[in-house]
Amino acid sequence: MPRGDLAAAIYATIADDVETIFGDSITAVNEHPDGVCVSFAQAKTRDFDLVIGADGLHSNVRRLTFGPESDVEHYLGCLVAACVVEGYRPRDELAYVTHSEPGRSVGRFSLRGDRAMFLFVLRSHQAADPGELAARKALLRREFGDTDWECPQILAALDGVDDLYFDVVSQIRLDRWSRGRTALVGDAAACVSLMAGEGTGLAMAEAYVLAGELACARGDYRRAFDAYEARLRPFVEGKQAAGRKFVPVFATQTRLGIWFRDLVMRTMNFRPLAELLLTRSVRDDFELPNYPI
Ligand SMILES: Cc1cc2nc3c(=O)[nH]c(=O)nc-3n(C[C@H](O)[C@H](O)[C@H](O)COP(=O)(O)OP(=O)(O)OC[C@H]3O[C@@H](n4cnc5c(N)ncnc54)[C@H](O)[C@@H]3O)c2cc1C
Repeated sequence: MPRGDLAAAIYATIADDVETIFGDSITAVNEHPDGVCVSFAQAKTRDFDLVIGADGLHSNVRRLTFGPESDVEHYLGCLVAACVVEGYRPRDELAYVTHSEPGRSVGRFSLRGDRAMFLFVLRSHQAADPGELAARKALLRREFGDTDWECPQILAALDGVDDLYFDVVSQIRLDRWSRGRTALVGDAAACVSLMAGEGTGLAMAEAYVLAGELACARGDYRRAFDAYEARLRPFVEGKQAAGRKFVPVFATQTRLGIWFRDLVMRTMNFRPLAELLLTRSVRDDFELPNYPI
């Protein structure tokens, strides 16, 4: 399910009840004894009781309240790019098909409506996004230009792409997920990165627990923020540690490593072995609390 479809489905559940300001951004967060004064790039300055930053890996709210991103971002040594193309062939339903060369991998999977998504992962010492669409495409052509498999065809399909996601693969590690009347959730608080593979579920679980704790605390936001973090931090840190272990699987650095990884993957077709080796790492021993909300 594409991230945008999920966001639209979630938004539909609150559209009539929650005021939403689109196309704007927070420029300042100033706390005072009775609340938080928030300034926007477009809208007028307003007072709120609390600020919850849910603005992702490069969180603006985090930068404004906790300090520079560079203090808390931990680059995992890879760049990632993703795009969607219509009518690409071949098409494999319900399968993630991937090809790896040392330090590089490209994957494709089928989306609804005859669309395919491509995912490029690339080892890079430099945590640098070239920025402009043309420069991003040029980097992918340079890095994947001599790669076999369907790469020439995939790079040709890239020509018609206007929306190319490109970013560093990083984790966010903060000492605290809240400061004063501001709390962070999702990637803004503790990005696990795409290597961990379940950032979306974690973001939603965090939002649910934070909302539940706020409801239970009856206005004592400090108690709620502490309880939210106490419940989730150990679990999320475990996911971050697991994510770091997956870097060599996504972007294996040697041919021998790729051969060994593929061998291990193939043995996972033998179900009892897969259950023995994988169940522990993919099963979540976290039970969502039942809140009166
Ligand atoms: C290539 C890739 C593949 C992934 N695949 C998976 C997967 O298969 N499964 C999975 O569970 N997770 C996956 N993840 C991770 C997942 O996307 C994130 O963990 C998840 O989206 C985090 O949700 P979030 O709401 O915290 O942040 P985001 O989804 O990043 O949302 C942040 C929102 O804040 C907005 N925003 C940012 N800055 C500002 C600003 N200054 N002003 C106003 N608004 C702002 C953004 O527009 C965005 O809408 C993947 C990540 C990547 C990069």
